[in-house]
Amino acid sequence: MKITEQIAQATRTLISFEVLPPVRGTNISSLYSQLDPLMEFNPSCINVTYHRAEKTFKHLPDGSYKSIEVRKRPGTVGICAAVMNKYKVDAVPHLICGGFTREETENALIDLHYLGVDNVLALRGDAPKNERFFTPEEKGNRNAYELVQQVSNLNKGHYLEEETLNESTTNFCIGVAGYPEKHCEAANMDLDLHYLKQKVDAGAGYITTQMFFDNKKYFDFVDKCREVGITVPIIPGLKPITTLSQLQVLPSIFNIDIPGELTRSLLQCRSKEDVGIVGKEWLVMQCRELMQAKVPFLHFYTMGKNLVVRDVLKTIL
Ligand code: FAD
Repeated sequence: MKITEQIAQATRTLISFEVLPPVRGTNISSLYSQLDPLMEFNPSCINVTYHRAEKTFKHLPDGSYKSIEVRKRPGTVGICAAVMNKYKVDAVPHLICGGFTREETENALIDLHYLGVDNVLALRGDAPKNERFFTPEEKGNRNAYELVQQVSNLNKGHYLEEETLNESTTNFCIGVAGYPEKHCEAANMDLDLHYLKQKVDAGAGYITTQMFFDNKKYFDFVDKCREVGITVPIIPGLKPITTLSQLQVLPSIFNIDIPGELTRSLLQCRSKEDVGIVGKEWLVMQCRELMQAKVPFLHFYTMGKNLVVRDVLKTIL
């Protein structure tokens, strides 16, 4: 079912989880063992991230190096099908512009349509690890707005080849990313919101936010979105803090702040267990406040921390 329909029919705050495809060469059972303990909470959907190929160097027997491209976490489409089949729950594949031509994107969308996937999260993707700026493929989408346009066009039966006989249209509900603390490349919040509205006007039906640890940032963001005329549901993205190193890692990767109060509590911890308890209590507090504010969903960036998320859900539900 479409996320927008799920929200319209909901009588409570819905739950969703985001998972990464297993590393190439790992069995899919590793993913199931992450999801199994979470299924008792009846998630409305499972998001599956997409990972672009990265350039790496292979050491050859003659001592030279060869540049190769490896996608470390393949299988997003297959995992969506497997998750829907095993758990009877909607899967939301993430689609990215990076590394894809428009034709490859169209082919992926056709696969997803045949599999009965109703939702996609349309994203630009980041630059590869060894490059500073994002560069689109020669015949690829340059930003998430163009990707949303492509999915919307397919929903109307407009394929890339004009001569394609297209009586069959897709009917994807399109989600996009939003940044309560601004995307790192945006010159300012107003411009970021302008581009966010562009994605919504092009056909996005809902927004999922970057993680945040200060609910006020989310509430302010929702207010600003409403002020500029963005009316679609805005799903808060949440992540548990489990290690002290995240105090440096999360702000530098995701361009987010960790509130002073949380930082002080974490720095006073004497053990890893204590850090886990503080991180969990903070997330419980965030979830309770968001549920009170009647947010449509709680979206958890589960990412290997399924047991922490399970503990949080056991506490709040
Ligand atoms: P865009 O909306 O294209 O925005 C990127 C930047 O360009 C912003 O600064 C924006 O202000 C600006 N911009 C937007 N439109 C225009 C325009 N028309 N002209 C000029 N500038 C413009 N990454 C992955 O690789 N795989 C994933 O599975 C994945 N999942 C994610 C899930 C969520 C919920 C979130 C929040 C992020 C996810 N990401 C993922 C990371 C995401 O790809 C990066 O944050 C990326 O840098 C931006 O993606 P976007 O879709 O927000 O890009």
